[in-house]
Amino acid sequence: MEAFEGLILKQINFKESSKILYVYTEKGLISLLVHGAKKLASPFLNLTQNLTWIKFFATGKALKTLTDGEIINDYRKIKVDLEKFTYVQHLMEIINFFSESEYDHKKLFTFLKKILAHIENESHYIRYVYMFELKYLYLLGVGPNFNACSACGAINNLKFAVKDGGYACENHTTATTYMSTRSVEVMKQLYYHDQKNPLDLKPDLDIRREIRLFLDEYYLYHLNFISKSRSILLGLFGY
Ligand SMILES: [Zn+2]
Repeated sequence: MEAFEGLILKQINFKESSKILYVYTEKGLISLLVHGAKKLASPFLNLTQNLTWIKFFATGKALKTLTDGEIINDYRKIKVDLEKFTYVQHLMEIINFFSESEYDHKKLFTFLKKILAHIENESHYIRYVYMFELKYLYLLGVGPNFNACSACGAINNLKFAVKDGGYACENHTTATTYMSTRSVEVMKQLYYHDQKNPLDLKPDLDIRREIRLFLDEYYLYHLNFISKSRSILLGLFGY
């Protein structure tokens, strides 16, 4: 029997009364069978909701079976806030989609827990969503270049674009539209932010909108990914 801790990203029904949970842990994504999860008398009834941080014991190899578990955080404050919940759903879709990629899962796991705490407890939480998406690009090996031309290393007369993977000089840019300097500066601060320090940054609506569109385009162009939650976010925020 092994002990785990993780976040339930999604689930499917299995046979008549059971469920398989997909739990993100420091070792990556784990498939977890919960026998009788849908029965009202199940001791695990509350333990099987998406967006719940759990501690659990399990047996088995590829598909593990839950033997015992407890809730660490059910993120109730996020679940009752439709905007926050949809944004977290968007992040959970990203993690699920790239869960098979090889990267430092332990690092992301620790980071995810901190990001969720910020989103749960702060009203200016969108900057933390963006921070997650930006740092995740780095983990996936496609982080934007914030310091020099991606092609030649030049540091003068640079422009920032999705297609160029961040900065490019006039000779090497292949893009036709570019990010505003203000938004690049905000993204750079988020990208390099050290969690030990307070985040002294409250981007205004124009910047939030520009970064949102940049991130969507970047994930689509470099990773061929777009989340299902994205269209709901558009309805909620208008961008
Ligand atoms: Zn160049």
